[in-house]
Amino acid sequence: MVSQAPTLAQPLPLGPLALPAGDSEEVAIWTLLESVCDPEIPVLSLREIGVLRAIKAVPPLWQLWITPTYNGCPAMSQMKEDLLAAMQQAGKQAEVLTCLAPAWSSDWITSQAKEKLRAYGIAPPHALAQQAGTQRIRLVPKMHSERIACPQCHSLDTTETSQFGSTACKAMYKCLACAEPFDYFKPY
Ligand SMILES: [Zn+2]
Repeated sequence: MVSQAPTLAQPLPLGPLALPAGDSEEVAIWTLLESVCDPEIPVLSLREIGVLRAIKAVPPLWQLWITPTYNGCPAMSQMKEDLLAAMQQAGKQAEVLTCLAPAWSSDWITSQAKEKLRAYGIAPPHALAQQAGTQRIRLVPKMHSERIACPQCHSLDTTETSQFGSTACKAMYKCLACAEPFDYFKPY
């Protein structure tokens, strides 16, 4: 089915989003949706990982705007279903809409979420030098020159064992200090 794509009056925000405060219904929905986690990284909410970008009231509906982490991410349909299920449980009508521009960046993962990733055993992505308001054209994943710290013992004596880890967005590393294998969330 082809339908006219709804648009937001304002462009989606760039960068990590803080959980808004206040007593509006919109804030209540942001708070409610903190329970909806990345299906591949169950310690991070979709806001924390930078996928849930905006919530807009279009009575009687709530529009939930998401940006895929990268094209073809197999977790996206699961994320949509989980958002809709959480809204339905709360008795709210909702639709999930996808916004492809601006493109998601691992810079949108909140700093608290990066700490949670590390505690979960995944080395968080390094920040990319990205200026607000500029659009990067990404033809190939950026090569990371920084050393990746082991999330277990924090040693920088680590080596990449595979470009792809448990999911395509992660690489596999091994710590040469403590011998622990771990995932590295690649910067995009
Ligand atoms: Zn280690």
